[in-house]
Amino acid sequence: MTNSLISIVAISPIQDYLQTLIARFSGLSEGEVADYIPELKLANPDWFGICIATQDGHIYEVGDSQQHFTIQSVSKPLTYGRALEQHGEAAVLKKIGIEPSGDAFNAISLHPTSGTPLNPLINAGAIAACSLIPGDSMQEKSAVILETFSRYAGRALDIDHTVYQSESDTGHRNRAIGWMLRNFSVIECDPTATLEAYFQQCAIRVTCRDLAIMGATLANGGLNPITGKRAIPEKYVANVLSVMATCGMYDASGEWLYDTGMPAKSGVGGGIMAVLPGRLGIAVFSPRLDQQGNSVRGLATCQALADDLELHMFGASQPAIPAIRRATSRKSVKSNLRRTQAANDYLLRVGKKLRVYQLHGALTFASIEPVARTMADESAQTEVFIVNLRLVHRIDRASVNILAELRRDLIGTGKLLFFTESGNFWQPLIDAGVDREAFFADDDFALECGENHLLGDRFPNLAWGSETPLEKCDLLLELNPDELALMDRLLFYRNYLKGQNIITAGQASNELFVLTKGSAMVSMATQDGIARFDAFSSGAAFGEVAFLDRSPRSANVTALSPVTCRILTREAFDQLDTLAPAIKIHLLSNLAGRLTTMLRHNGRELASLK
Ligand code: GLU
Repeated sequence: MTNSLISIVAISPIQDYLQTLIARFSGLSEGEVADYIPELKLANPDWFGICIATQDGHIYEVGDSQQHFTIQSVSKPLTYGRALEQHGEAAVLKKIGIEPSGDAFNAISLHPTSGTPLNPLINAGAIAACSLIPGDSMQEKSAVILETFSRYAGRALDIDHTVYQSESDTGHRNRAIGWMLRNFSVIECDPTATLEAYFQQCAIRVTCRDLAIMGATLANGGLNPITGKRAIPEKYVANVLSVMATCGMYDASGEWLYDTGMPAKSGVGGGIMAVLPGRLGIAVFSPRLDQQGNSVRGLATCQALADDLELHMFGASQPAIPAIRRATSRKSVKSNLRRTQAANDYLLRVGKKLRVYQLHGALTFASIEPVARTMADESAQTEVFIVNLRLVHRIDRASVNILAELRRDLIGTGKLLFFTESGNFWQPLIDAGVDREAFFADDDFALECGENHLLGDRFPNLAWGSETPLEKCDLLLELNPDELALMDRLLFYRNYLKGQNIITAGQASNELFVLTKGSAMVSMATQDGIARFDAFSSGAAFGEVAFLDRSPRSANVTALSPVTCRILTREAFDQLDTLAPAIKIHLLSNLAGRLTTMLRHNGRELASLK
């Protein structure tokens, strides 16, 4: 069964990555399916599911993530949390300790001096916690537990009665533990109802997806991120996560915490639920267990996740500030390349297809994951993605891989993704497989490239190298053939070599230029090299501002290719007053149109900065 969220988001580097984990670890066939509860033997040893639920409720899931199995010991921290909610910390601590035991999970032992179970995650502590759940009968206690777990999972869970029966029929050892607790007055009445409720608690049916959401609920301070409903008061979340961190993985808890750095709990049904506080719930399900009772593939998968995504809690953790500082589209930002009115109008119309993301801060799995998700969501409407890295000060390995994978996915569907101002981060991105063509010194050139992609061959006159006829040039739009013929005579030709200055700063402004072939740019030297302030392609007019207000030229304009210009001198412009006033009105109106477009664009760009 596929999840609906996933079918909408077709592009997901994280989903792809989880899929690679399935491929990587499905070969692991060591370990045995638990058989001490006869019914558990029936599990298919090859079931394998992985699910990540983010603290804001997004799900990534692969493999048998929707296969039902029994929660078993993963239930223990949740029941402990419910007991804390019911009686408060002090009362619960009197009954159940918080020290790792080093004993088997089902040891018939209590703390030698306090006479209480060592911690809530071995059976003695878990049965004691179950006794603290409100209700006198199995049914009453079970109902409270089921209701609590359902709030964690965000759906109504149920009990696998066959597993419950099988467990109850064979649970003599747990009964012994129950009566021992009764003997030491940890349980103060007949323990039978508690024991049966405990067997039912272990037999609650969940999926890997449920466990991930339960984990995400703990990661989210006790609030289920999907339903928005509270599963446990926030003040007890730390208690629950602490015992998971120290005692959650049977006798491999120390090694687990050392390696993965996440509180977790596993169960003999093959499930593992891990929590990265404030960020994620992670669940893996695969029934083959190692000597300690932990899922073999589950351990390998969690270890890989912790390494690859750098999830270790005690590693260089960074606050998860959202990595997108600003996202804009071609509707409000444009390249400095001056294009013809027609091309500009077109680009403005399709502007949403080009998006620029300004990222900032430290990029870690937690901060890049929502970025990848946003970009994947937007990929249905977007053709060109520009990711600006100027304000990013750290990128970890997980983020580098996610960005590289995202680019591969997008390119695979015919889209473009460019990185700009990547500073020192280009090398790790290249190492992760991003090719050199993806990098631009600044947004301007990336925008130009993206705009060219959007324009495609719709405006063939604009191709570098071909000559634009006068009637297609911005300045001369709307002129009739006679008027065009007159202008053809008035505008003289001047050719430039590539690299030659067409305009030099400080010169008098007696000419207005119409670029009919090639391209040119207005530039200034900055500390990072040459910055382009404006650039023109064939069909554009330039030099109009100083021409109109008669001020000296303020910057250099350089030919970027062999260039042909048609030049309107001030003399010829003045002659039009008497020679052809209608033409002059057209020219002025075209120039005014050009200037208002620029003003409007600057307004939009300024607004997008706010
Ligand atoms: N129902 C199981 C028992 O008490 C739980 C075992 C487990 O998952 O650790 O034996």
